[in-house]
Amino acid sequence: MNPSSQLFHQGEEKLTTWNRPESKYNETHQQCFITWSQQLHVQYSTKPMPMIDDPRDILLKVTATTICDCNPNLCNKTMVYMDNGDILGHEFMGVIHRVGDQVTKLYVGQRVVVAFNIACGFCEYCQRQEYGVCDTIYSSKLQEKLHQQKKVTLFGHSCLKSAGLGGQAEYIRVPFADINCLPIPNDVPDDKALYLSDIIPTAFHGCHIGNVKEGSIVAIWSLGPIGLLQARWCQILGAKRIIGIDYVPKRLKIAHQSLQIETINVKECDTMKTLLEMVPGGADCSLQAVDFNYSKSLLYKDERSLQSTADMLIY
Ligand SMILES: [Zn+2]
Ligand SMILES: [Zn+2]
Repeated sequence: MNPSSQLFHQGEEKLTTWNRPESKYNETHQQCFITWSQQLHVQYSTKPMPMIDDPRDILLKVTATTICDCNPNLCNKTMVYMDNGDILGHEFMGVIHRVGDQVTKLYVGQRVVVAFNIACGFCEYCQRQEYGVCDTIYSSKLQEKLHQQKKVTLFGHSCLKSAGLGGQAEYIRVPFADINCLPIPNDVPDDKALYLSDIIPTAFHGCHIGNVKEGSIVAIWSLGPIGLLQARWCQILGAKRIIGIDYVPKRLKIAHQSLQIETINVKECDTMKTLLEMVPGGADCSLQAVDFNYSKSLLYKDERSLQSTADMLIY
């Protein structure tokens, strides 16, 4: 068990405002889902269908879901502790199967994408549109102590108090549905809408907090799905130059040929020297789109302390 997990389990406290509910299940209807069962092991299982616990919930029939880049970190425990039987998946969409009595903006049969982070919509933070630190869903003092700041609560992550809710399932109960669901027009197919649950807005959010604007020179560290989407957002936001940095030939090719941005292959040169030759004054903004396992260098820590890099990590 990693040190954070150990501390978490030693000191797990009751939530004050949204106690992790004991989900109710419809024993007569079985559904299939993917669960974490032990380190490096997930399994396909069946379990009774969830039911609406709160009048603000909906029950969603999942039509599309993803395996996010962070799922391997959950499975190998490099990030947080998972409990046996936890349902995976924080990116998903579907068709509304049932609505609670107090849901006002949604109806049965409607297609919606669900945001990966769970928010209430009415607490002080949500009122400021800082949904990632919703006070109602998650008020853990222990997590604040561990991470020196409040942390987001996600579907599919038991340690972060997702109440066992995961999207790699046939059905999922979505709490506070009016605020957490985005209706999708019928002419937008699932394979386009699905990415609104996480990576498209996550990529945009990074550009926003990195202050990318008209005329910016931006360096994007890593050209995985988030990095490539950020390159596209930078173009939409009017960035003057976009330099993508990676070592995977396929990614560099997509960045160069499809997005027509400048690239640096870190395996072929001294990255910093090359970057400073390309941009003598340095980039206006660095976007960090690398898995957190890789971002441990002194340079990265310096960038963080100078607030000259924007992290895409949601944790
Ligand atoms: Zn994700
Ligand atoms: Zn809230």
